[in-house]
Amino acid sequence: MTEYGSEDVLDLLVIGGGVMGLFTAYQASGTPARVAVLERGRIGDPTTASYGRTRSYRKDYLDAVYARFADDAIDLWTDFERATGRSVLVRCGCMNVASSAVTPDLDRTYAQLSTDLLASIDMPLDVLDAAAIAQRYPYLDVDLAHLDPVAGLVDLAAVAETLTGVLHSRKVGVHEQVETTSLRRDGELWRVATDAGEFVARAVVVTAGHGTNDVLARIENCTLQVPLTKDRPSEAKYFVPPDAERDRYTSDVMPVIAYLDTGVYVHPIVPGVIDAVKVGYYNPPDIPRDRTGVRDIADFVAKVMPGLASASVSDVLDVDQCDYDLIADDDFVLGAVPGAPGVHVGVGWRGTGYKFAPWVGRVLFQLALQGGTVYDVARFDPARFDSDRSDPARTVS
Ligand SMILES: Cc1cc2nc3c(=O)[nH]c(=O)nc-3n(C[C@H](O)[C@H](O)[C@H](O)COP(=O)(O)OP(=O)(O)OC[C@H]3O[C@@H](n4cnc5c(N)ncnc54)[C@H](O)[C@@H]3O)c2cc1C
Repeated sequence: MTEYGSEDVLDLLVIGGGVMGLFTAYQASGTPARVAVLERGRIGDPTTASYGRTRSYRKDYLDAVYARFADDAIDLWTDFERATGRSVLVRCGCMNVASSAVTPDLDRTYAQLSTDLLASIDMPLDVLDAAAIAQRYPYLDVDLAHLDPVAGLVDLAAVAETLTGVLHSRKVGVHEQVETTSLRRDGELWRVATDAGEFVARAVVVTAGHGTNDVLARIENCTLQVPLTKDRPSEAKYFVPPDAERDRYTSDVMPVIAYLDTGVYVHPIVPGVIDAVKVGYYNPPDIPRDRTGVRDIADFVAKVMPGLASASVSDVLDVDQCDYDLIADDDFVLGAVPGAPGVHVGVGWRGTGYKFAPWVGRVLFQLALQGGTVYDVARFDPARFDSDRSDPARTVS
């Protein structure tokens, strides 16, 4: 067996170089820890979930735990901007809307329920009256509009460029096109065999998105398999408004607009990032078609955003050709891998993970290298899916 000098041993090896893995490495690399990242493909490959132009960041959840963590994540994004000197957030706000013609019981709409929840945890939103809606957003036909000014869009290219630049400057090895074949325990260390040679690390974090179960299956003594499924937005379209109206739709005046009862979100034009309004529609598999209140994006425009009717429309093909990682019980999977001391996993972000990335990175870094996290993540324990959990020989840290 090879003897490893301390200089050859990594403190942390991250497997999976999407935004979650890169943020884990980023958080760890701010300490003296020796860190490396293994990526099976290329960082920023268009088929991975972290590739795109914009993702929304918001805290409008119906669950206080997610709302609070999303709020913590916004602070960490701001810290990231301050530390790197790079602007990655487009602070345009996010507005949840509803129309009584589409969802007649306005008090039970997502917009109202999430606003009530945020108010109950002291995160009040701006509630706009009909006159304000008509004056500020003449292209909308809605009865209710609740605006959170502390929300908006993340500029994905800026994040990827900044993270890879910082990791490079901090001497974090980011190894692309490396296939991991096995992870074997050797005393206090993990020996990770790959087609680019062996890596030895005290701690391992798996953030491999849809490749997570493959990696888990290669870990000695690990029986965990996460019930992951794939799904995609049903439709995504770009709308380019006529020149005379373009100014209404830019991120300095237009927020992200979400009508989540109908499964629709709208991103404004972000100059220098994307020169079109993006509308996404997701009809989840458990809701029969036609039950979201709108049939498709064209129906949404007709009923809710008639101002866009005069825009030229095209399919979104340059980005978002990737999948959500849905999880059977609809909760994140974040924590220790049962039966594999020193290995942690993060996956199952249900199409909503990007906004949490600096927070996920912080949690995984703390779990891996600091013996525990300041956040209560017990609810996300991966062991809930471990078939061998009842085995007393196994313990969950
Ligand atoms: C269309 C779409 C729209 C979305 N919109 C939003 C939004 O508006 N707001 C929001 O907050 N979130 C949004 N999300 C979710 C968000 O983008 C994801 O949750 C997030 O990008 C997941 O990051 P990740 O690092 O876990 O996964 P990925 O980006 O998929 O990264 C996983 C990486 O692991 C690598 N890998 C796989 N197997 C291996 C292996 N064996 N060895 C080494 N590497 C491996 C992959 O190549 C990949 O690079 C959206 C997602 C999609 C698909």
